[in-house]
Amino acid sequence: MTSKSPNPFSRIPAVDKVLVALEKGDELPPVPQPLITDLVRKTVEEMRQGVKAGTLEVGEFDETVSMIREKIDSLYRSRIHPAINGTGVCIHTNMGRSPLSDKTVAALTSVGKYYNNIEMNLDTGERGKRGGFLETCLATLIEAESATVSNNCAAALILILKHLANGEKNEVIISRGELVEIGGGFRVPEIMEVSGAKLVEVGATNKTSLEDYEKAITPNTGMLLKVHRSNFWMDGFTDEPTTEELVELGKAHGLPVVEDLGSGAMIPTESLAPIPHEPTATEVLKRGVDLVCVSGDKLFGGPQAGIIAGRADLVAGIKKEPFFRALRCDKLILTGLQETVLEYLSKGQGEKPELPLARMLSAKVEDDLRPRAEALVEHLTAIEGLQVGLVETIARCGGGTMPKAEIPSLALDLKPETMGLAKFADLLRKGEMPVIGYTAEDRYRLDLRTIFPEQDEILTKNILAIFGKL
Ligand SMILES: *Cc1c(COP(=O)(O)O)cnc(C)c1O
Repeated sequence: MTSKSPNPFSRIPAVDKVLVALEKGDELPPVPQPLITDLVRKTVEEMRQGVKAGTLEVGEFDETVSMIREKIDSLYRSRIHPAINGTGVCIHTNMGRSPLSDKTVAALTSVGKYYNNIEMNLDTGERGKRGGFLETCLATLIEAESATVSNNCAAALILILKHLANGEKNEVIISRGELVEIGGGFRVPEIMEVSGAKLVEVGATNKTSLEDYEKAITPNTGMLLKVHRSNFWMDGFTDEPTTEELVELGKAHGLPVVEDLGSGAMIPTESLAPIPHEPTATEVLKRGVDLVCVSGDKLFGGPQAGIIAGRADLVAGIKKEPFFRALRCDKLILTGLQETVLEYLSKGQGEKPELPLARMLSAKVEDDLRPRAEALVEHLTAIEGLQVGLVETIARCGGGTMPKAEIPSLALDLKPETMGLAKFADLLRKGEMPVIGYTAEDRYRLDLRTIFPEQDEILTKNILAIFGKL
């Protein structure tokens, strides 16, 4: 018999056949059937394209099915669900930034479950101000004339620009040293331009003088903008005018001065941890700035939002912008912010709020972290093939805040003997409760500062399970 090379398309399975095989095999994760069907269809189609292009050789049917199974597992893992943050980065943007307090979560549950009075004036029974109470609370906390909220700080900035830099006066003067990228590849200049504002960059990256700003002022200038360098720092040969000087310049020319603060500290950061002082919205407004905007889910410790505070006439004007309607927060976010700000207001000077972020930042290595770490070590030393130790580390604020702040911390220092670090990290990420640590000095580390004490048990179980001890 002459050997004929087999038809390369013949091994591509039929969609139905794969679906039947999947159903007959081990239990699949609870991914909705339409997603599974779609995934199988797409995979089979990709196989056809790959074979057509000569770039793919299709394996046995069983291999194809297990490959698709892995894809379903991966799809299931990609749903948003709780995880353990062992990175030591407190505001981890890829892990949801600030965790919410129990009180906040309880408020979300009840407001979400029932009707509420979000836009109902209970005194009159008529339509009321959306989030009016929250705005009053925020203004009081920040010691501002007025405050309001938007989808996030980027949205807050766009709203401010829409209101203060438009039409003939759409030029916004900003220092080249402040044209920062705020994470995820989004840059302040791009955000500004979508608002229709025209950027007028002044100075050099490391040096900008008051004169640079002054020379750039034209009849078309709408405002002066300062962007807090929250996610990087510059050292050495640097110079810039103080906020007070900028405010004076603005006043002399009848121009509003705005500061995008980003990080959103509400209390002195140095009172939480041995870290530098981060400017607060209150301080910035006291320097005479007309408006300030901050994030709700960075150092503020609440849900994703942008907080705008400052002059009452400007805040009122921003709220009348048609765009405001498009960037407003929903009831759950407003409720979450309300609980967070109430927590701050319930505390006196120097008292720290009961918020997970504040608790994490202020946890003490010896009193809070070491006892937990030692208990974890005790549970894990029984595992054969895993070296277990403790190491003193540096945790970070993260989320593009306070890059220089180094918080002394403590981490589990693990070295599996039966597999590589990458494999170990992979297995931990893929558990029912994903665990995210980091590798350093040929060890896998889990920083206790960002792990909730109530997660210690499940963390232990995850590690035990990897070594077949459960
Ligand atoms: C983080 C940050 C932003 C963006 O805040 P979001 O709430 O993520 O939109 C804007 N400006 C500065 C200075 C920031 O640090």
